[in-house]
Amino acid sequence: MTTAPTSDPNSQSTDANSQSTDANKSTEKYWNKRGKQGQTYDAIVIGSGMGGMTSAAILAKQGHRVLVLEQHYTPGGFTHMFKRPHYIWDVGVHAVGEVTKHSMTGRLLDDLTDGQLQWASLGPVYDEFYYPNDFRIDFPDSPQQFHANLLAAFPHEKPAIDRYFQLVREVSSGMRGYYLARVKSGFLGRMADLLMARKAQSYFEQSTQEVLASITHDPKLRAVFAAQWGYYGSPPSRSCFAIQALVTKHFLHGAYYPVGGAKRIAECLLKTVADHGGWTRISTDVQTILIEKGRAVGVRLGDGEEIRAPLILSAAGISSTLQRLLPSDIQEQTWATSIRTLPPAPAHVCLYLGFKGDITQAGAGPANKWFYETWDIEKDAWLISPEQPIPDAPVLYCSFPSLKDPHHDPGPETRHTGEVVTFVPWQAFQPWRDSRWKKRGPSYEDFKTQLQDKLLEQFLRHLPALRPMLDHVELSTPLSTDHFCRPIHGSIYGLEPTPTRFKNRHLRASSPIPGLFFSGSEVASVGVIGAMMGGVLGATAAAPGPVSKLLRKINKR
Ligand SMILES: Cc1cc2nc3c(=O)[nH]c(=O)nc-3n(C[C@H](O)[C@H](O)[C@H](O)COP(=O)(O)OP(=O)(O)OC[C@H]3O[C@@H](n4cnc5c(N)ncnc54)[C@H](O)[C@@H]3O)c2cc1C
Repeated sequence: MTTAPTSDPNSQSTDANSQSTDANKSTEKYWNKRGKQGQTYDAIVIGSGMGGMTSAAILAKQGHRVLVLEQHYTPGGFTHMFKRPHYIWDVGVHAVGEVTKHSMTGRLLDDLTDGQLQWASLGPVYDEFYYPNDFRIDFPDSPQQFHANLLAAFPHEKPAIDRYFQLVREVSSGMRGYYLARVKSGFLGRMADLLMARKAQSYFEQSTQEVLASITHDPKLRAVFAAQWGYYGSPPSRSCFAIQALVTKHFLHGAYYPVGGAKRIAECLLKTVADHGGWTRISTDVQTILIEKGRAVGVRLGDGEEIRAPLILSAAGISSTLQRLLPSDIQEQTWATSIRTLPPAPAHVCLYLGFKGDITQAGAGPANKWFYETWDIEKDAWLISPEQPIPDAPVLYCSFPSLKDPHHDPGPETRHTGEVVTFVPWQAFQPWRDSRWKKRGPSYEDFKTQLQDKLLEQFLRHLPALRPMLDHVELSTPLSTDHFCRPIHGSIYGLEPTPTRFKNRHLRASSPIPGLFFSGSEVASVGVIGAMMGGVLGATAAAPGPVSKLLRKINKR
C-alpha cells in the first residue's frame, strides 16, 4: 500500500485534465497561465469555482468577452479533481441534486454547457445513514419513498413527517422572490426584501433546532430530519431552517454525479467562455481589486500586472474578497464590517483512498454512507488537537466516486477510489498556519499521520472487507483547502448558514462599489447548485437585461 503522509493532496503536478489524452486535447485551448496577449475584456471574474464559472458562462452567452482568473493551477474551485498514479479524486462534489431537465437549474446548466455536461444518478438510494445500535435509514430518489421510509422508521410520527414536508414546500415556494431580491443592493435591495423575500425570510431567521422542536418531541426523528446537515456544515442549533429545508428539497428527486468526474464541469463551462471570445488564466493570483474614483475598474495580480474591465465579479467568496482584495478604507465601512464578522462554516479533513479489487463486494456502492457514532447531532466536529489523544470522529461521510461515474474504467487491476470526510476545528491547525505547502515540518506531518491512521481505522471498522483491497491512502487538512481554494479559515462551505448570516442585508450580488459584483455560494446558498445560483445572481446584477431574458427563456422550456 502507498501512503502519502508527507504531502498534501494535489501536491504533485496534478492537472486532472491530463488524465485523458482526449480531454487534454480538448481543454488545452480553454485555459492556460498567460492568457491571450493584447486581448481586452468586458468582464473579469475572480475565481473559477462553480459560482465564477456560472457567471462567466452566462455573461459569455450574452455576448460579453470574459476573463476568468484562478490562483490554483487547475480551474474549478471545489469542483476540481486531483490525481495520483492510477487514481483520481474530486475534492468537493459527491452528490448534486436538481440537475435534470425537470428543474430550472438543470436546464440552465444544460444550456450553459451546450448539452455537453451529463449527470449519472446515484441510484434509487443516494444517502445511507447508519446510527448506533444498528439503526439504518436510506434517503431515496422520490419524495413518496422518502416519506414512506421515514414513516416505516417512526410509525407514530405521521403528523410530524407531514408537517416537515409541508414546511419544505413552503420554504421552496418562497425562494424565487428571495433570490431575486438578493440581486440589488442599497435602497432597491431593501425594497426588494420587503416585496419579494418576506415569505422565505422568516425561515432563514429561525434555527433548524427551533423549527424541528416545534414539529416533534422525538429526538431521533429530529436527528434523522437533520441527518444531512453535513451538506451545509452547521448543526441544528446554529443553522437556519431555510437551508435545512432547501437541502431536503434539493435531494427530493435523488442525487447525481457528473459523468467523467467533477472536472467535466470546468471543461464544459469554460469551453463556453472560450467559445465566446473569453479566456481563463490559471496560476493567476489576484492581489487587489483596483478602485478609482469610487469605482471598481480592474485587478492587480501578484506579479504586479494590471488588467482592466468595466465589470468586475468576485467569485472568491464575499468575506474573502473583503478581507483580502479590497483596500483597508473599504474594509472598515459598515457593510464590509458586518460581513467580515460573520463566522465561517467548519473546516474538514478528507481521507483519499485507492483500492484494488471489487469494492462492491466489500459493501461499497454509488450511494454515500454516513456513519453516525452518536445520536447527538450537535456533536459536529472531530475534536482533535495536536496535544491530546485523538478520539473517534462523531460522523464519517463516505463516498466512492469511481462507482458513481459510468465512464470510470477500473482497468485490469479493478482500481477504485473512496473518500472519507469529517469536520474539524480550524484552530487545531493554527500552529502551522504560516508554514508553506509541502514544507510544514515534521510536527505537522506527525499530526497528519496520526489523524490519517485514526480515521482510516474508524472507517475500516464500518467496512472491514475493504482492508485487503486498500492500495493508497492520504489525508487532506484544512491547510490543503486553504492553499488550493482559499476560503476563510479553510471553511468547507464559506460563511456558516446561520440565521445571522441570512439577516445580513449586505450579502448581495451587487456591492455598494459601482462596477463590483459578487458571485458564488456566499451570495446564494451552499453546494454546487447553491454556488451556481450565486453565479446566476452575480451575472444578473452585472448585466441585468440580457441575463433576465436568458433566464426567462430557460424557465419557459
Ligand atoms: C469536501 C467537500 C465536499 C463537498 N460535497 C458537496 C456535494 O456532495 N454536493 C454539493 O453540492 N456540494 C458539495 N460541496 C460544496 C461545493 O463544492 C461548494 O459549495 C461549491 O463548489 C463552492 O463554489 P464557489 O464558486 O462558491 O467557491 P469555490 O469553489 O471555493 O471557488 C472559489 C475560487 O476562487 C479562487 N480564488 C480565491 N481567491 C483568489 C484570488 N485572490 N485570485 C484568484 N482566484 C482566487 C479559488 O482558488 C477557487 O477556485 C463540497 C465541498 C467540499 C469541500
